[in-house]
Amino acid sequence: MLIWGFRWKTLSLGQIAYICSQCSRSTVHTAIVERGRLTIFFIPLIPIGSRYRIVCNLCGLRLRAAGDLEEQLRGLERTGQLEPRTGPIADKTGVWGR
Ligand SMILES: [Zn+2]
Repeated sequence: MLIWGFRWKTLSLGQIAYICSQCSRSTVHTAIVERGRLTIFFIPLIPIGSRYRIVCNLCGLRLRAAGDLEEQLRGLERTGQLEPRTGPIADKTGVWGR
């Protein structure tokens, strides 16, 4: 019998300050990346992808990074620098859950 499953690891990329769409305050958000792997007999073997998220440090709102913001967070992961944004972050995210 083969025992398989998934394991997600969360890494913090950095802090981003902007106005939260839920608590309407200018607060610091944490940019995180979640990396998934397929496990076989509890050993993580095959990478299955990355998910980029933004979490409000005040109210805990979790947003999925999409489009331009996802590209910016990939850049932040590579270089440690956040590129200048062209618009508010809230326009480029979707509510994912809390
Ligand atoms: Zn908030």
